[in-house]
Amino acid sequence: MKTDIEIAQSCPLLPITAIGAKLGLTEEQLECYGRYKAKLLPSATAGKPQTGKLILVTAINPTAAGEGKTTTSIGLADSLSALGKKTVLALREPSLGPVFGLKGGATGGGWAQVAPMEGINLHFTGDFHAIGAANNLLAAMVDNHIYQGNALDIQQVTWRRCVDMNDRQLRYILCGLGGKGNGVPREEGFDITVATEVMAVLCLAEDLTDLKARLARMIVGYNGHGQPVTAGDLKAAGAMAALLKDAIRPNLAQSLEGTPAIIHGGPFANIAHGCNSVAATKAALRLGDYVVTEAGFGADLGAEKFLDIKCRRAGLRPDAVVIVATVRALKLHGGADKTQLATEDTAALRRGLPNLLRHIENITQVYGLPAVVALNRFTSDSAAELALVQEACAVYGAEVALSEVWEKGSRGGMELAHGVLRALEQENHFRFAYDAALPIRDKLLALTQRIYGGHNVAYTEEADREINRLTELGFGGLPVCVAKTQYSLSDDPKKLGAPQDFILTVRKVKVSAGAGFIVALTGDILTMPGLPKTPAAEAIDVDENGVISGLF
Ligand code: ADP
Ligand code: MG
Repeated sequence: MKTDIEIAQSCPLLPITAIGAKLGLTEEQLECYGRYKAKLLPSATAGKPQTGKLILVTAINPTAAGEGKTTTSIGLADSLSALGKKTVLALREPSLGPVFGLKGGATGGGWAQVAPMEGINLHFTGDFHAIGAANNLLAAMVDNHIYQGNALDIQQVTWRRCVDMNDRQLRYILCGLGGKGNGVPREEGFDITVATEVMAVLCLAEDLTDLKARLARMIVGYNGHGQPVTAGDLKAAGAMAALLKDAIRPNLAQSLEGTPAIIHGGPFANIAHGCNSVAATKAALRLGDYVVTEAGFGADLGAEKFLDIKCRRAGLRPDAVVIVATVRALKLHGGADKTQLATEDTAALRRGLPNLLRHIENITQVYGLPAVVALNRFTSDSAAELALVQEACAVYGAEVALSEVWEKGSRGGMELAHGVLRALEQENHFRFAYDAALPIRDKLLALTQRIYGGHNVAYTEEADREINRLTELGFGGLPVCVAKTQYSLSDDPKKLGAPQDFILTVRKVKVSAGAGFIVALTGDILTMPGLPKTPAAEAIDVDENGVISGLF
């Protein structure tokens, strides 16, 4: 059995200009980063109507390894391409944190990958470094402002520094030590780059002008009167936008089967909104007839934010939704031991099915969208287990397709591709899960009851106070971005399946004024992950010719 990187390295790639040509693009419309990566220049999409069909790939609540959304997205796009449809992928860029940590890369797997796999997983075109630099420029300007006399009277700093690495050592630090000439001492902390507001802003910005305006609105702290101080007040937005001028341009790469892949932006789906950039999605809709995009984690996090935040802000409307499910994750939801997921257990599977059914109901009933379940087949799945999931979906009236793209590439995704094409013909009654004009607490209650299946919302005193303050400051009409565990529909990672009657506890609330949403933190969501006992980094190497091994 070949590893992902071995499969990727065994596939010859087309020059990126040939991939561009499939989309009708000339060399002048691309800015090439070597032979296999390019940025789309504005002329690539200027004046083209947004006529593509938008297919959103989401999933049930995942296991720690992920359920194969990226893999399924890529395989589905390859299958649609193989059927002669002009298809474009719109995916997120990988973060170095997970690449070296537990999860590995984010370029799909098996015979459904985007390439160059090593290049995309490691640095790619440098977008995340640019985002980190812009974020940290602002942090330096905040502390310098205070050091230089603090004319804006900043009394509370909320802006944090960042690095694109899982580094728990930096979660809480003391900085500005060393005496008077070395800054003003205070407590500080780092976030991982993908959890920063600059990442969210880049992903929601329509263009450079919108980016600059959003950066200027970002709040870095509060003055002595409790009024927000912004990046605009510090005159930082122009320089930040200058650092991001290339990063805002969508990147073009390809799948192993030569399907054009626009890979751009990558905010976390638990703490931020978890989807690729608006600029990339819109470019894809202008360049392709079928666009396959992925939202992070399960449908309660990624798809919810895709629909309620990104689509609302950008005026997008998905034409169909694919819900990826695996037998192993459903068994986990049914109480199976996580070390025993490769062993047949139809009883646990049956108990876990309500998780999938809840997500189907949310997509079709709450959001009014046509849905197809992609049953992502693992070699350990038994025939009885696969049949059981298919039967349950059929009884529920949901279209289900077995997907074997990991093992077979586009050949393994034909059933899914035909299912999606049928779904695209269905009526679409897209609506949001809540009205953004509702008060903040009502929006959180709507999400808890309609999407998570809970009963009520509880607030800590701190969260309550902050909601009142943010409402007074005029931020009450923004959509809410719930930071929540990905493992459960609730805020408790141990409540698997389809829990009911639970109370969602909002611990902390803050505004991302540039991104344009209120973040409600529940449970113990980390904005800076740590490395596991055996980091994936231990297996990664490069030989004397620059050939990388051990990435997965
Ligand atoms: P997600 O996007 O949902 O997080 P990925 O597509 O990145 O998930 O897949 C997670 C991991 O599981 C990857 O390493 C991928 O190679 C592997 N994987 C996905 N589908 C299969 C499958 N059907 N069989 C075996 N491994 C798979
Ligand atoms: Mg993924």
